[in-house]
Amino acid sequence: MNLILFGPPGAGKGTQAKRLQDAYGIVQLSTGDMLRAAAASGSELGKQVKDIMESGGLVPDDLIINMISARIDEKDCEKGFILDGFPRTTPQAEALDRMLIEKSLKIDNVVEMKVDDEAMVERIGGRFTCAGCGAGYHDSFQKPQKTGVCDTCGGTEFTRRADDNADTVRSRLKAYNEQTAPISAYYAEKGVLKSVDGMAAIDEVTRQIKKIVG
Ligand code: AMP
Repeated sequence: MNLILFGPPGAGKGTQAKRLQDAYGIVQLSTGDMLRAAAASGSELGKQVKDIMESGGLVPDDLIINMISARIDEKDCEKGFILDGFPRTTPQAEALDRMLIEKSLKIDNVVEMKVDDEAMVERIGGRFTCAGCGAGYHDSFQKPQKTGVCDTCGGTEFTRRADDNADTVRSRLKAYNEQTAPISAYYAEKGVLKSVDGMAAIDEVTRQIKKIVG
């Protein structure tokens, strides 16, 4: 099963993708995570994308398309994958279609997470991640059961994304509304677009997505 989770920054794509990964044994492919790993490693790719990401803009399409194509070819994607943060422009969506034909694959569902822009600024501002296992938390909506200790792995170190500050978030939302939102019409025309209420509680969103993907 291959899915696209679609929605603005802060909609909860990463949180839901991790849950679907565990529930269905398919792999979360987050282009944002891949680019952050590249930036942290100081690789050539990382150097190219670091400043763009910190400003909240989008990385060039060709770079992203090559990165995701190579990732889909890896063995762990055989059972299926969840695209989180890709495609983000119409050329990326078109390139994905061509890529899937070449690889004899298809997308089963595109799930749009419908949310309210203003709420995203608050959601993103409070989020943090366990440095050990990557579990996601939020200062108000999803605190660890024991303050300072990860529920999943017991780790005590947490990180916050450099681009999760109010100014950059606004640029990211702008990039989403201008360049990414039009993709929903692209998938609606193909008849594969389903939507869930991304403002609902995390468990409820998971329930709605599972109902769609079966
Ligand atoms: P995310 O973790 O999905 O919020 O992505 C963080 C940042 O990585 C974005 O603000 C972009 O700068 C970059 N990025 C991630 N995915 C893409 C993509 N598909 N196309 C262009 N830029 C991307």
